[in-house]
This record gives sequence, structure tokens and C-alpha cells, in this order.
Amino acid sequence: MTAKLIKGTDIREEILDEITKEVAEIKEKYNQVPGLVTILVGENPASVSYVTLKVKTAERVGFKEIQDNQPEDISEADLLALIDKYNKDDSIHGILVQLPLPKHVDEKKVLNAIDPDKDVDGFHPVNVGRLMIGGDEVKFPPCTPAGIQEMIVRAGVETSGAEVVVVGRSNIVGKPIANMMVQKGPGANSTVTIVHTRTKDLEGHCKRADILIVAAGVPGLVKPEWIKPGACVIDVGVNRVGEKISEKTGRKVAILRGDVDFDAAKEIAGAITPVPGGVGPMTITMLLFNTLESARRHLSAGV
Ligand code: NAD
Repeated sequence: MTAKLIKGTDIREEILDEITKEVAEIKEKYNQVPGLVTILVGENPASVSYVTLKVKTAERVGFKEIQDNQPEDISEADLLALIDKYNKDDSIHGILVQLPLPKHVDEKKVLNAIDPDKDVDGFHPVNVGRLMIGGDEVKFPPCTPAGIQEMIVRAGVETSGAEVVVVGRSNIVGKPIANMMVQKGPGANSTVTIVHTRTKDLEGHCKRADILIVAAGVPGLVKPEWIKPGACVIDVGVNRVGEKISEKTGRKVAILRGDVDFDAAKEIAGAITPVPGGVGPMTITMLLFNTLESARRHLSAGV
């Protein structure tokens, strides 16, 4: 059997086109577009390239995008004051602080200073609580889990009553996606198990999964024989396993592998995401979706 390939690169294009149309509608109705600010402290190369892609994608869909770069030695008080400024700015509907922050800044304090109604990353404790309650309470599902759920839905995979096994219990992927899949509602209603480093029978749990979501950060952790025939496999892992020369640019690029042995797994699974080009492209896409939703809420409420 050869699995259906769930390509994040294709789903991203569909969603970005949908967002672009909705931005035009919002502009027509309110004479304003969604506004997103990205605060970057210092010049960490990985953060710079991630933020650059965010800015380019936000501009592509017609957002107002502010790229606010701050020096590495900015004081915590100045950073908090900056966040306060954007909290009060009516043209900004989403605030994102790129992590990691320098050591002299208390990351928790900074993230908790973002207005929960502009917290498009969904990491503020208020939004984590809202996600736990589910339903109408949810304002900003965190971007990578939201992307995973969107891929499962758009691939036409049945989630209601499905056995979902999530490998990994991080606050940014494992715990929130497990929480989202167990909720009442479309794209959810699943029976969820979370497995982690202390789980006794990882293989036995994975073998039961109709939907297997793997976010461990261990290349090739999930063996093909752990996959139930016909299962949907979502591989969140992005692991650098070496370097190669790009045929396109002639430059050195990282060789990326997922947490699942893709070549063998695709012969057993019913549907599977590749790495790269699977979950990866969905994160920024869902960030923009969250910002659009925030703009809609703020503008319809007249704030
Ligand atoms: P993390 O290190 O915070 O958490 C990993 C989790 O996996 C932990 O809860 C741990 O208990 C579990 N785990 C690790 N090794 C295990 C093992 N041998 N057996 C069972 N469980 C094990 O990582 P994270 O931030 O959740 O990220 C996980 C992976 O997903 C990484 O490769 C990361 O790069 C990738 N990621 C991708 C995206 C994206 O594509 N947009 C976003 C976030 C994370």
C-alpha cells in the first residue's frame, strides 16, 4: 500500500489564498487590514530567518506587518513597555515575541505581558486555559497543533471515535494537540493517549493508533512495524541529520528527517505527512489565520 501524501506546502497555499480573500473583505468593510507585530530581540540566525519568512508571508496576504527589531541588550522594563504600547495600539491585532529571549530577560514575564486577546501564538496561560475548556472559549489555538488538526481535517481523515496517539508531551505540540483532539466538535471527538519518555510500551500504544501524531524530536523513533495498516501518520519532528549542497542554490543546506521512518512507513500508513514539506509550513499559516480571526473579533466589536 502507498499512503496518501498530506502535503503541508499544498494546504498552506489553499489557506493563504482563503486568508487573502478574507483580508480584502475586511478592508472593504472596515477600511482596515489585520495588523501583526513581530518583536525580535538580538540577531539569532535561526530566529532571523524564521521571522523573515513570517514577514514575507504576512505581507503576501495583505496584512499590516511591523517588524520590530530590538538590540540584544534591551532591558526587561523596556521590552515590557514596548509590549504595552502594542497592547494599546488598535491597528495591531496580533503580537508575537520571537523566542528565545536573552538570558537577562524573564521570558515568562514577557509572554504573560501580551494582551491575551492579541496573543496569536496562544501561549499565554489564559489562552492555554481557554483551549482546555474548548468550544467557543478558544481564541487562539497554538499554531503548530492548529496546523496539525487542519491537515487531518483537510485530508478527510475521520477523527470522531478514532484512537489518537500523541508521542511527546511538550507545551507547544504534544499537550495542546492531545487536548484539541479530545474536545467535542468537528475534527476532534477522538480517544486520545499521550505517550512520552516514561511510557512503558511505546510500540504497543503506537500500534493501536488510527491517527499517530509524533512530536518527539528523535529521528526515526517510530518504526514502520509500529504503524497500524491504514493509519494516518503526522510527523511533527524536524531533525537535522547532516548537510548537503543544494542543487538549486549551490549552497550548503541541512538534511532534515522526521521522527518516523518515512520511506518504509508510507507503504503501511493510509495517509502520511513528509518531512520537510509536511507540518512545517503550517505553523506560520495558522499564525496568520489566528491574526485574521483576532482582527475580525476586534473590528466587529469596534476596538
Ligand atoms: P520537546 O523536546 O519539547 O518535547 C519532546 C517530547 O517528546 C517530550 O515530551 C518527550 O517526553 C518526548 N520524547 C522524546 N524522546 C522520546 C522517546 N524516545 N520516546 C518517547 N517520547 C519521547 O520538543 P517539541 O518542541 O515538542 O518538538 C518536537 C519535535 O517537533 C522537534 O523535532 C521539533 O523540531 C519539531 N517541531 C516542529 C514544528 C513545525 O514543524 N512547525 C513546530 C514545533 C516543533
